[in-house]
Amino acid sequence: MPLNAHELKQLAEAAEESASPTCGSWPHRAAAWESFTEDRWPADLMERLGTLRADDIDEPTFEEFHPRGTRYDSTDAPISVAHFPFNRCDVFRCAACARLVLRYTEFGGYYVDHRARRVDAALVNV
Ligand SMILES: [Zn+2]
Repeated sequence: MPLNAHELKQLAEAAEESASPTCGSWPHRAAAWESFTEDRWPADLMERLGTLRADDIDEPTFEEFHPRGTRYDSTDAPISVAHFPFNRCDVFRCAACARLVLRYTEFGGYYVDHRARRVDAALVNV
């Protein structure tokens, strides 16, 4: 079962309310989607919690959700689990500081491009 928006928001809030500061791992600074190569992924820290991808949909929509005029790469773009690209993300939790990170892969014609973005609880659309 994929995580729903409420679960994602609760997990993110729990991490933000904890006393421990955010660790220095780079995905926590990715306020907007950031491209990375696999060798930069902090695999020793990132524990996969689950996915946002619905298992009963073959091809999730590419429609984006920007009711307030944000764009794909805006740092304040809302996190809507039903919309691109959140609908194809996996959810990770940092073992050092418990902050959440989203990750998915863009498939272009001749490349794959990994992207990550941190989860700000206030931006999760429920
Ligand atoms: Zn961390």
